[in-house]
Amino acid sequence: MTQPGRVAIVGGGISGLTTALTLLAESTTPIDVTVFESSSTTGGLIRTTPFAGLDAVDEGADAFLVRVPWAHQLASELGLGATLTSPTSAHAAVWHNGMHSIPQDLLLGVPAKMRAFVASPLISPLGKIRAAIEPLLPRTTDEDSIGKYVRRRFGNQVHERLVDPLVGSIYAADTDRFSMAAVPQIASLTASRSLLLAAARARAAAKKTTQPDAPIFGSPLRGMGALTETLAQRVRALGGKILTDAQVSAISRQQDAYVVTTAQGEYTVDAIAICSPAQHSASFVAPLNARASQLLAQWDHASVVLITMAISAQQWPAHLTGSGYLVPKPDQRWVTAASFGSNKWAHWRPNDGSMIVRVSLGRDGLDVMHLEDDALVNLALADMKLHLGKDFTPHEVRISRWRDSFPQYRPHHFARLAELEHSLSASAPGIVFAGASYRGIGVPACVEQSRKGAHAMLEYLTHLPK
Ligand SMILES: Cc1cc2nc3c(=O)[nH]c(=O)nc-3n(C[C@H](O)[C@H](O)[C@H](O)COP(=O)(O)OP(=O)(O)OC[C@H]3O[C@@H](n4cnc5c(N)ncnc54)[C@H](O)[C@@H]3O)c2cc1C
Repeated sequence: MTQPGRVAIVGGGISGLTTALTLLAESTTPIDVTVFESSSTTGGLIRTTPFAGLDAVDEGADAFLVRVPWAHQLASELGLGATLTSPTSAHAAVWHNGMHSIPQDLLLGVPAKMRAFVASPLISPLGKIRAAIEPLLPRTTDEDSIGKYVRRRFGNQVHERLVDPLVGSIYAADTDRFSMAAVPQIASLTASRSLLLAAARARAAAKKTTQPDAPIFGSPLRGMGALTETLAQRVRALGGKILTDAQVSAISRQQDAYVVTTAQGEYTVDAIAICSPAQHSASFVAPLNARASQLLAQWDHASVVLITMAISAQQWPAHLTGSGYLVPKPDQRWVTAASFGSNKWAHWRPNDGSMIVRVSLGRDGLDVMHLEDDALVNLALADMKLHLGKDFTPHEVRISRWRDSFPQYRPHHFARLAELEHSLSASAPGIVFAGASYRGIGVPACVEQSRKGAHAMLEYLTHLPK
């Protein structure tokens, strides 16, 4: 009988668990898969807990993009397809000296039609003239910074009041220092000279292939935690092992195998999937390859705090029917965005009619982790008073601190990743990286790279001498 292939997976977030599931479900030969997770629970940055009488209110991610297949397919494979729900049609706004609806005809903030910014009071008359000349400008080249690119094309206002709030709020990023290549929806437009004309073509093409009312986002009714909990159950059911409180502290090469040193002992394996954040991976990769460790240590990460509040129906102003608002960087004090959760999600409506609001503080360049809980809540309420003109007294508050949770893809991120993988490929074959620090931050991108990483490992294992 042949020996089973032995695989270690570092990190029990969505990426590590998806890698484990794919290996176990698709291997055609016996395989021994162990997930090592440093904390006491799996799920990583995905966490759903009860709040304000509701069973499941997300503390982090509350949805995944369904216009790309990866997360949706995973949910269906896990039997969660029938439980998927989508946000209501409530619209978001931008706060800039008052609340402004986000104009229609934008592609992640990039105007796809002149009227996207011409009719909006969010952009001044001079800003509109500057933006309107975009289709006449010569091609912009060699700019792997979203901010630099978009400012050159449309001027500062379109960037600061549309593109940066929309993209920046997804990645807790300062888009002046964020790689264009890391946001494929915008990067794909740069093959054309004019971003506006390319965005118009992309929207027209999307309209032909997508139903007008097809949902853009989805989430299991039991919250995003249902995804990682069901994944972990499935991995165990297929014979995979998941060890919690099992921090990996070192990986070393011994003959044709690897030794993984963890808080629970040493394990010898044939291949390893590194699905932990880059700054953590830097330390345990050091015994294997100093250059890889140095490169990983250079990755920057931003921290955010998400404050969830329940505000009584009597306090909530009837006119606030939208899904929430974003605050452009030049207007930010502490709050970067607020989501009116009970307007956005039909299943986030407590029986007493309260409004569930999720307020985000902190981003790349705006640290809030040093602030005490009370101070954070007071700053959030003071900002909401400025933005919404009302003093709120929430009757329930939950604070979720997400330290170093958002990897920052600096310009030329993918060149650094290529160098990292190249530095390991000769001396350490059979090691793959998958997860938010590497090839995309959103849940679908994490699932996609985990599937591909698992396929590469299966290929590697088939060629190992038995
Ligand atoms: C507040 C917030 C809101 C978000 N909203 C959305 C959203 O709405 N939609 C969306 O698509 N995405 C969203 N994201 C992004 C998305 O949730 C994450 O990028 C994704 O969940 C990351 O998954 P991962 O498995 O790659 O990493 P993680 O979830 O970070 O998992 C990595 C795991 O590795 C473990 N680990 C670290 N070091 C070690 C070690 N040495 N040994 C063993 N284990 C280790 C960690 O404990 C962790 O559990 C959001 C993120 C945050 C923080």
